Amino acid sequence: MGFSDHFLNDYGILQTLNRLTKPVDSSYADRIWRDALAAIRPRLDAHTYEMWVRPIQCVGLDDERCLQLRAPNRFLKEWFETHYLGLVLEQIETDTGVAHRADVAVDERPPPPVEPSSPAASPAETLDPPKTTATPDPAPRPAPPASTPAPSPRPRPPIPTKPQGLSPRYHFDSFIRGASNELAASAALAVADHPGQRFNPLFLYGGVGLGKTHLLHAVGHALHEQQPDLRIVYLSAERFMNEFVSAVRHNQFDEFRAKYREQADCLLIDDIQFIAGRDRTMDEFFHVFNALYEAGKQIMVTADRVPASMQGMEERLTSRLNWGLVADIKPPDLETRIAILRQRAERDQIDIPNDVTFRLAERVQTNVRELEGALLRLATFASLRNVPITPAFLDEVLQHAAPPQRAAMTVESVQKAVANHFAVRIADLKGQRRHRGISRPRMIAMYLSRELTGASFPEIGLRFGGKDHSTVINACRRVQSLQADDPELRTAIVQLRDQLVGAHAMQ
Ligand code: ADP
Ligand code: MG
Repeated sequence: MGFSDHFLNDYGILQTLNRLTKPVDSSYADRIWRDALAAIRPRLDAHTYEMWVRPIQCVGLDDERCLQLRAPNRFLKEWFETHYLGLVLEQIETDTGVAHRADVAVDERPPPPVEPSSPAASPAETLDPPKTTATPDPAPRPAPPASTPAPSPRPRPPIPTKPQGLSPRYHFDSFIRGASNELAASAALAVADHPGQRFNPLFLYGGVGLGKTHLLHAVGHALHEQQPDLRIVYLSAERFMNEFVSAVRHNQFDEFRAKYREQADCLLIDDIQFIAGRDRTMDEFFHVFNALYEAGKQIMVTADRVPASMQGMEERLTSRLNWGLVADIKPPDLETRIAILRQRAERDQIDIPNDVTFRLAERVQTNVRELEGALLRLATFASLRNVPITPAFLDEVLQHAAPPQRAAMTVESVQKAVANHFAVRIADLKGQRRHRGISRPRMIAMYLSRELTGASFPEIGLRFGGKDHSTVINACRRVQSLQADDPELRTAIVQLRDQLVGAHAMQ
């Protein structure tokens, strides 16, 4: 931005010029826009910039100092307006000395046609309605429809009828039932026998390694065996989010919508807690849920906790997840653990005497994944050393490998370590001060909390003095990108991580 532009601006000449050259002055607008982007670009991580800022175009400026911006679709427009427009306008004000406004329009031109014959709607029309705040949905639960409506007439790439992503190991036959998982396993079987009719949605929850994913895949396999034409979609909630974001980014929302809302006959989603606090994805999942549910399609979801305990999850979504059956899986009791070990030993041809099986089942009580891991370690060491598996051998192998269960690392312990490291007060980490000496440690503490404690973004925000989850997301992204060029920051993080993990292991 050169002197002459300031001059023109200050004396209102530019406005006159703008009026004369109506509708817009694109060259000046283009310049201030590009200058501003060049200035804010280093402040965002590359991915964020590419994803949310770069696709926005500036096409001119009207005589009210209002920049005319164009976004390729409504989703991007809203995201940009909420998260980055302020930053850009601030920068423009700094550069030009004058406050500007902006009007972001959705570029109505349709994307290059993928299927010229299909009457595709414009990207703007295919995107979600503007996001409203998470308000409880007062709509009463609709009665499940008696029959499935006709599928969409749009020609779309079909979902392969062989479900994708299911592990061949996770069948009902290989799932050992016991008191701890009885309800979940019975409900899963009922869903496989009567999709969309008995328990819809089926919501399974429980701690890690207890068999939720196993049952979800088992339903997928069983349904496919019984009804090979059924279009079964299985994926993790994380993948759902990534596909959604990518569809929006590449103007392929039509395909996304068709796949999830129209074509799927059964949707199996793993670890739904992942989308808590991710507003857009929750919103999209909400629409997918409604579309499938209303069409009588089966939905099955797993999570690590009950719907109501997922912080950051919209209430209208948690209420829907409660509509069907909510079943828990608990850590298996001793008999179930023994049965699981026997089955695995038999399948993997591990020669393990009964007394060792019993001892192992007694030792590892946390979850099935650890139990299986311990058995495999035992078998591997025994075959490497070429010795039989005996109780003494078990004790020797598990001595180091199976530390007693520890409490999870907490956000508070991370805050304490970071505060000590940087000699700041914990209250400052939780406070609002933006001084670099405090904002840096705060960002790092948020980043490490996310990495080490497994707490969600909203939960971390809450523990940092009630900050918004987007603040935490931004802090994490920023630390991520700063690490590349800032050895000091990298070292601090490595030291803190070692210290925290080390101290935790000593407990
Ligand atoms: P989660 O999804 O709950 O974290 P997984 O379904 O991934 O757990 O289970 C972890 C491992 O334990 C898998 O290998 C799974 O096959 C096994 N497993 C869990 N529960 C059982 C069970 N009841 N019977 C047999 N294997 C089980
Ligand atoms: Mg799982």
